[in-house]
Amino acid sequence: MAVEPPLPPFSAIVVAAGKGLRVGGVLPKQYRTWRGRPLLSHSVEKLREAGASPLIVVIAQGAEDHAREAVGDVADVRFVTGGANRQDSVAAGLEALAGDAPARVLVHDAARPDLPRGVIERLLDALSQHPGAIPVLPVVDSVVVAGPRATMADKAERESLRRVQTPQAFRYDAILAAHRAWVGDTDAGDDAQVLAAHGGEIALVRGDERLKKITFAEDLMDSANGPAFRIGQGFDVHRLVQGEELWLCGVRIEHEKGLAGHSDADVALHAITDAVLGAVAQGDIGTHFPPSDPQWAGARSGRFLEHAVSLARDAGYALSNIDLTIICEAPRIGPHRPTMRAEVARLTGIAESAISIKATTTERLGFTGRGEGIAAQAIVGLAAIR
Ligand code: MG
Repeated sequence: MAVEPPLPPFSAIVVAAGKGLRVGGVLPKQYRTWRGRPLLSHSVEKLREAGASPLIVVIAQGAEDHAREAVGDVADVRFVTGGANRQDSVAAGLEALAGDAPARVLVHDAARPDLPRGVIERLLDALSQHPGAIPVLPVVDSVVVAGPRATMADKAERESLRRVQTPQAFRYDAILAAHRAWVGDTDAGDDAQVLAAHGGEIALVRGDERLKKITFAEDLMDSANGPAFRIGQGFDVHRLVQGEELWLCGVRIEHEKGLAGHSDADVALHAITDAVLGAVAQGDIGTHFPPSDPQWAGARSGRFLEHAVSLARDAGYALSNIDLTIICEAPRIGPHRPTMRAEVARLTGIAESAISIKATTTERLGFTGRGEGIAAQAIVGLAAIR
């Protein structure tokens, strides 16, 4: 990895006090999952990597447990309770730094998780000439001024307009004084406007499209975050032989023959396990539990399924339903179905009502029809954990 030039020392304030209701759902958006982790944790990590210290996270009243869980055990992060609006929240963050005033401070929104280091560099660089600096991007679409009754009043001069992002960078003394002097009773919109109202000149530096704000539910489900729902299928066959135990769905079944295989040969659990692994594209049961490995000899196949479910959870997905078909002439599956569903529910942690176990014969045709083996196929649905 290339050695990056050190940045001048700076502190940072991440504003995460909003209720974030526009994305829908109960949990405020800064605590919801984006690219596998809470949204808030991304900004905190990016700022930490760039050297921000101390780092203040401004949170809503009573949200400290959520925030600690989202950020994890990161040294030098302090939580401060915010105010009624964004401006009050930033002011609370600035005041929390006053005891040991930094030279420079970045004010960032938790809703902009993908923060490139280059933006931080440009902002801090601009502070050598100006008391404030903000990242901006050109306006690409043509722009108009809306008039009454949804008609166009005028065209606007796109060339002179810029879209404003965060973080915004300030000399600490200047922005603190501007916030303390602010007399308006309305929200200023952003901190650059607070400083500008106090006479500070704001430099414009190049922003980055990656800094886009997560505003709507679709933003939380962008392609890098993975789809909301995934499907997997699994198929397996084992031979029926004399002198083996018969295990299906983790249930021991009395039968004249049993299934042969390296583990307990539970063909039904193997099909479900492969379906779960397939849904999250994590190989197959042999990838994780190779038959060549003696530690899996005679192993209960429930362990395989539990492992697959935990891999899916690590990938950000929870099992939502299972549809299993067991293909054999004998034994009859029906009498064992309630016990099987209960066992699969125990292994996967989902409700029995989401577990379908079906059985069919092949009309005495083929290896299953001749009683030489049992086949099983499964389809599973997985929903993203948000
Ligand atoms: Mg198998």
